[in-house]
Amino acid sequence: MSTIIEISYLFSSVLFILGIKNLSSPKTARRGNFFAAVGMLIAIVVTLLDRHVLTFEWIIIGGLIGSVIGAILAQKTAMTGMPQMVGMLNGFGGGASALVALSEFLKLDGSVPVHTGIAIIASLLIGGVTFTGSMIAFGKLQGIVTGKVVKYPGQHWINLAMLILVVAAGAFVVVNPTELSLTLSIVFVALVLGVTLVLPIGGADMPVAISLLNSYSGIAGATTGFVLQNNELIIAGSLVGASGIILTNIMCKAMNRSLMNVVLGGWESAGTVGSAAETSHKGQIKSVDQEELAMIFDVANSVVIVPGYGMAVAQAQHAVRDLVNALENKGKNVRFAIHPVAGRMPGHMNVLLAEAQISYDKMLAMEDINDDFPNTDIALIIGANDVVNPAARHDKASPIYGMPILNVDYAKTVVINKRSLNVGYAGIDNELFFYPNALMYFGDAKDAISKLTHEVKNL
Ligand code: NDP
Repeated sequence: MSTIIEISYLFSSVLFILGIKNLSSPKTARRGNFFAAVGMLIAIVVTLLDRHVLTFEWIIIGGLIGSVIGAILAQKTAMTGMPQMVGMLNGFGGGASALVALSEFLKLDGSVPVHTGIAIIASLLIGGVTFTGSMIAFGKLQGIVTGKVVKYPGQHWINLAMLILVVAAGAFVVVNPTELSLTLSIVFVALVLGVTLVLPIGGADMPVAISLLNSYSGIAGATTGFVLQNNELIIAGSLVGASGIILTNIMCKAMNRSLMNVVLGGWESAGTVGSAAETSHKGQIKSVDQEELAMIFDVANSVVIVPGYGMAVAQAQHAVRDLVNALENKGKNVRFAIHPVAGRMPGHMNVLLAEAQISYDKMLAMEDINDDFPNTDIALIIGANDVVNPAARHDKASPIYGMPILNVDYAKTVVINKRSLNVGYAGIDNELFFYPNALMYFGDAKDAISKLTHEVKNL
């Protein structure tokens, strides 16, 4: 029996790995999700068979309640709310690992082998930090907790002191496994540490923090796997831990930030620095309406669309697809340029465009399209701001200096659709709006693009 169980675990681990592999491209992402879900189903069924469950009653009740809540949340959460949803789920993962470790500690009732004791303390620490840290991250993105960078004197020393305290107390508990109250104190300090570690991080950096917490939840799962001596949990947790770290690294690189800069509270929340309308730019902007714009499109051959967070907010992806169809019917070459951190989570734009049945072949990554902008007649920016801000290339004083951007300003004409001259997530002005080849097309993305499509069709 145990051989069958281990082989089943191995099989589901292979499905997890295939799942992650397939998730790396939008074309195969659905298949990847399916592989991972089947892997998880096998893992759960096998674990229930293996663990000599005395009564299934509570497991079924818990499973039903959790499934209903999960299904409702998945239906109700808007695409723009996905980062905080992921944040909350990470927190539950970390909390579950800590609870399992604690119950195992209670079950062993003082006779805890050293290696199990170490794994229990690690689970309690990482799981506890992940739980409260993720809840703060959720609160910041949801606007319940301040999105500002919270700083107070000696905060890093206080955090370090708490960490040392937990490790020292943990070492004591490993040697004296009857110390229940000390173990509960470790849980308490870990929960406080989660709050104090995430609170200083600004709202703008929360998606990166969530990716990091995702990694923590995986590591907590893996350590709990050592507590339970369950190979499947160790493998699955390690996969989540490693992929979370890799994703965090990719996000930091795409923003030209170091992880330390994010974790120690680098950027403020959205829009806290000011708005272009009220700050330094003296230049003139030129704005167009849909009729003028349709005429400009009429004489263009190549169009590159750059979607950003505003397209997601406006849910304009279907309107954008209609515009693409209308332009293609007139013989224009239309492609999309996707910046790795456009929107508020990795792959945000690809998912939205795919939802509107826009072919993946039209979506080009930054490095594949950036050299093409000088040969592009119109770069149409829809609700993007930071990812097309030329200050990143030359303004050493800019917080986004060094972040790779889409070189839309090299196109013959740049059309920027947004509602105002307001800042994007990094909270900084965008000089692009004042460039001689730039035209502002103001309005909510869905409404403005629908009007433009209407005019394009009527020409
Ligand atoms: P930005 O946040 O820079 O700008 C979005 C713009 O959309 C705003 O300036 C806003 O202007 C406009 N907008 C908002 N609502 C609408 C609407 N209804 N219709 C039209 N426009 C609208 O977005 P980008 O995608 O360019 O950049 C993403 C930012 O998020 C980067 O700074 C990135 O570093 C950060 N980030 C991204 C992560 C990711 O994984 N994708 C993770 C962490 C951070 P206005 O109010 O004038 O309409």
